[in-house]
Amino acid sequence: GDETATENCIFCKIISGKAPGHILYRDDEVMCFLDIAPVSAGHTLVIPIKHHDNIFTLNNSEVSALAIQTRRFAPIVKRVTGADGLGVHQLNGRAAGQTVFHYHTHLIPCFHGKPMQI
Ligand code: 5GP
Ligand code: ZN
Repeated sequence: GDETATENCIFCKIISGKAPGHILYRDDEVMCFLDIAPVSAGHTLVIPIKHHDNIFTLNNSEVSALAIQTRRFAPIVKRVTGADGLGVHQLNGRAAGQTVFHYHTHLIPCFHGKPMQI
């Protein structure tokens, strides 16, 4: 289906330390960590600490915290990878291509002459 219970959620397990993850940042509302199957080196995910399947149930405080950390990490990911540009992608629902049903935004380093695909 298009939803996941917290107990079965791989991102909730990374948050709780039950699964490994390369965590770049964490506060009470947001975590940033590296994607396990990067489209390009440095591919980063930004997620809320509280489980939401996708965008439709986020509250304003969560939206705000996610946007702030996305904006903060965008230039960092671009700079440390030497990327020419940065893709910021966010999918909601299986029909949209979402595969992990814990809300997340992709930060994907992009390079001239290498079209990006997620
Ligand atoms: P989606 O297609 O739902 O937008 O993206 C899900 C992303 O989560 C994919 O890029 C996938 O590589 C990543 N992913 C799936 N399982 C894990 C995991 O166990 N750890 C990490 N770090 N990333 C994961
Ligand atoms: Zn979750």
